[in-house]
Amino acid sequence: MTPISFEFYPPKNDEQRAQLDRTAARLKAWAPEYVSCTFGAGGSTLSYTGDTVRGLIDRHGLDAAPHLSCVGGTRDEIAALLERYREAGCRRIVALRGDLPSGMGHPGEFRYAADLVAFIRAEHGDHFHIEVACYPETHPQAEDALADLRHFRAKVEAGADGAITQYFYNADAYFRFVDEARALGVEVPIVPGIMPIANFNQLRRFSEACGAEIPRWLGRRMAAYGDDADSIRELGADVVSSLCRRLVDGGAPALHFYTLNLARPAMAVLDRLN
Ligand code: FAD
Repeated sequence: MTPISFEFYPPKNDEQRAQLDRTAARLKAWAPEYVSCTFGAGGSTLSYTGDTVRGLIDRHGLDAAPHLSCVGGTRDEIAALLERYREAGCRRIVALRGDLPSGMGHPGEFRYAADLVAFIRAEHGDHFHIEVACYPETHPQAEDALADLRHFRAKVEAGADGAITQYFYNADAYFRFVDEARALGVEVPIVPGIMPIANFNQLRRFSEACGAEIPRWLGRRMAAYGDDADSIRELGADVVSSLCRRLVDGGAPALHFYTLNLARPAMAVLDRLN
């Protein structure tokens, strides 16, 4: 059975907290290897991530990994967060640069995620299993695809144990990326990030911001469904489960689901996979 993990975001009010509790309880039935919780840039959700991770560990008995983005943070702030996560029982961290809203905030003391990975290793040795991000369709701010790959390798050389990709809908982009990373000497597991499709307009907005490509045929098919949410969900589950099957058959070591705190879209994909 291919290992799976689920990603959540930190809820900010009681309604969202109740929703995450329901989602975590339902997805736990799929026996995830771990779950993770995102971290907002600029520190706005700094405490929410810690509280959410603690809740996922204490109330749901899940192995929960906080995301930690370094942009805008000082070494002391990051060191304090790492201590807090260690005390909470975390053994896994997703280490990122993050994004500062343009024109806002101080860039902080870490420039790139590789600096954060090196810092975590220097401060905590092998205590944390460190995951980093990588981009089969190239990070939008990279000079070019090859430079982006080299920067990914730098994160592994700094001590990352594994990587989770940005989501994509083109399996070939993933396979080529993995081949190129291996050719550069990167040996850690590269786990595809999977974005189930629930709300297509929202997905289009996300994809423009993060540089993930929605294949033209898929966009046109979705557009043809207009407001027919059931058909959109149905097609989305078919497309994403086929993608997952291809990835697993082609050697993907695990699957990491971006849930947006919803259980149903991820479960629709997993049901079809089984
Ligand atoms: P880096 O690896 O530092 O790379 C950022 C850019 O700089 C890339 O273009 C890279 O090519 C370039 N670069 C790296 N090193 C150098 C160098 N030495 N010289 C020149 N250029 C360089 N964001 C959040 O805010 N919170 C989250 O919780 C979060 N979770 C995520 C989880 C996953 C799995 C993924 C894929 C992304 C996540 N993001 C999150 C988004 C991420 O923060 C952004 O994509 C961000 O723009 C880049 O982060 P990074 O860690 O990949 O940065």
